[in-house]
Amino acid sequence: MSFEDGIRKVVPYVAGEQPADRNIIKLNTNENPYPPAPGVQTALRELADRSAELRLYPDMNAAPLTAALAKKYGLDPEQIYVGVGSDDVLSMCFLTFFNTGKPILFPDITYSFYDVWADLYRIPYIQVPLDENFDICADGYLRDNGGVIFPNPNAPTGVEADPQTVEKIIAGNPGSIVIVDEAYVDFGARSVLPLLDRYENLIVVQTFSKSRAMAGMRIGFAMASPGLIRALKDVKFSFNSYTMNLPSILCGAEAVKDDGYFREITAKIVSAREDFEEKLRGMGFVFRNSKSNFVFARHPDISGDELFEKLRGKNICVRHFGRPRIREYLRITIGTPAQMEAVTHALKEILEER
Ligand code: PMP
Repeated sequence: MSFEDGIRKVVPYVAGEQPADRNIIKLNTNENPYPPAPGVQTALRELADRSAELRLYPDMNAAPLTAALAKKYGLDPEQIYVGVGSDDVLSMCFLTFFNTGKPILFPDITYSFYDVWADLYRIPYIQVPLDENFDICADGYLRDNGGVIFPNPNAPTGVEADPQTVEKIIAGNPGSIVIVDEAYVDFGARSVLPLLDRYENLIVVQTFSKSRAMAGMRIGFAMASPGLIRALKDVKFSFNSYTMNLPSILCGAEAVKDDGYFREITAKIVSAREDFEEKLRGMGFVFRNSKSNFVFARHPDISGDELFEKLRGKNICVRHFGRPRIREYLRITIGTPAQMEAVTHALKEILEER
């Protein structure tokens, strides 16, 4: 027996690179190219005068933030749970809801944190293949299971599942919790939120990291029935009660209140995505239309590896996953129109140099 036998061994999630060089065009982690709502800056300035409040523990229920979210989404505050980014929220959901010992189900191509949490918490899982067009098929989820989770739009494909498929999966699993991870839903996809009233087994998770341009603040949230939110809080309060700090609570609330700014920046990103997709199509790239703030594309004449390296050589950082089925693809975050112009230009040069 060695002390090493007692160490929990896990293969950690590998996040996209955060290069120190600010000259790099950084389109690898789906951050928003615009600043957060102006009210966030004001809240941060005001916080400087309220620093004495930091001697107190923050509100365990993050009331100002929860109230702002409840108002925005037409829910009761008891239907909302906030956490330190949706990664924290999703991880707590795995711990709270996936405990039957039966395998949970998620797509074979999806957010690569799901299998990491499953391994961390010793939850068995089955990866249900997407079809050849990267669509989620409901039938694969209509089997005995210990829970279901999928992003919609899916990551890293950017493909939105059709609403009938999503509802079929939720309705077909009355004995399991179904989590729909809507990290990218605000960029033109349809949210499953209207179904919350009808399905007690549904949890919807969203984030401030993408559409609200606040990845650095770390805020995510879950929406579900009061009973499920209570269960989630019971586990969270048994783990670490005070994860949401005062600046996040106040800045998050300000961001939610400014719906006009939110609409403005998401519309700019959707429009830049549509322009970029047209350029990619013109250059011969193959991809499904995205409903997220990134495009997932391959080129028939050049490998994903080579394209990734060549872009890196031109100071453009995108994401490449060296995994089965997707190794020829690059995931390119939608930035400002100027950044997308630069990527388009670089891709043209790379293709012409061959
Ligand atoms: N879900 C999906 C599908 C994601 O791509 C991400 C971003 N990496 C997250 C959740 C987590 O984002 P955050 O923790 O920043 O809210």
